Amino acid sequence: MDRIHHDGVLIVGAGLAGLSAALSAAPRKVLLLTGAPLNQGCSSAWAQGGMAAALSVGDTPELHAADTIAAGAGLVDPVMAALLAREGPAAVRRLAELGAPFDRTAEGGFAQSLEAAHSRPRIARVKGDQAGREIMEAVVRAVLSSRHVEVRAGARLRGLLQDAEGRISGVVVVQNGRPLEITAPAVLLATGGIGGLYGVTTTPAELQGEGLALAALAGAMIGDPEFVQFHPTAIDIGRDPAPLATEALRGEGAKLINTSGHAFMAGYHADAELAPRDVVARAIHAEIAAG
Ligand SMILES: Cc1cc2nc3c(=O)[nH]c(=O)nc-3n(C[C@H](O)[C@H](O)[C@H](O)COP(=O)(O)OP(=O)(O)OC[C@H]3O[C@@H](n4cnc5c(N)ncnc54)[C@H](O)[C@@H]3O)c2cc1C
Repeated sequence: MDRIHHDGVLIVGAGLAGLSAALSAAPRKVLLLTGAPLNQGCSSAWAQGGMAAALSVGDTPELHAADTIAAGAGLVDPVMAALLAREGPAAVRRLAELGAPFDRTAEGGFAQSLEAAHSRPRIARVKGDQAGREIMEAVVRAVLSSRHVEVRAGARLRGLLQDAEGRISGVVVVQNGRPLEITAPAVLLATGGIGGLYGVTTTPAELQGEGLALAALAGAMIGDPEFVQFHPTAIDIGRDPAPLATEALRGEGAKLINTSGHAFMAGYHADAELAPRDVVARAIHAEIAAG
């Protein structure tokens, strides 16, 4: 087996999480590994509606956190909700500074759309529903022009190396059909979700959770793996991955109807089409099961 040592941070996964971590690690040297070519095989490039953040006049991180907690049916960790809501606006501004062309209001602020479970328009969108592709293009450009980052695409994670104390000391990847061991003083896994394990997914099929599984096998405590988001309006046309009717449609007033033409959501939740996504997904499932 070929072996190399990287004297810096080793990051596996080149979605928005891995790329953002690579940029933040400067001036430390980063080796960024991804199984697919950049901008492919990641959910980040497929995101549509945009990023939820309290950016409008009259909106606040506290209101955003309160909506998040209300949507979570008692399961939301309020400390994490507050943290994400507080850091959201700066995260959007940082991506805009990197060149992501967010839609703007006439006054130059962020144009924001309404989506399910938000009490006000709060989704910063990019060229309508092109958020993922446009944000990723800007961030990939920033990474490729950063001298501290080296990208190795086509390297699929197969194993984690541990030292005698159990600490992670590197990874085993397969590249061009050959196994390769890479050791490094710091290893960060950003391999995304597990959608590819389902019979039908809206994520790229490559996302099969190896990072999560290998971390668990190495003794990491995995937080909340049961929270898997199901897009309520994946389009059922026998394709996998299934195409997605953007979440923004319901915010713009689109109605969900059954085969009798009945707009059924009002029977399931007071907010009808704007109910939390898990409620909408279960209601659609119930309507399908009822014929
Ligand atoms: C169709 C769709 C629409 C969405 N719309 C929105 C939206 O509007 N707003 C929003 O906030 N979120 C949205 N999301 C969710 C959002 O895209 C994800 O939560 C986010 O992009 C996850 O980023 P990530 O970097 O963690 O993972 P990903 O972007 O999936 O990146 C994972 C990376 O790990 C790599 N990888 C995986 N396994 C291995 C392996 N074994 N070896 C090597 N590399 C590996 C992949 O190739 C990829 O580079 C949407 C998701 C989808 C699928």
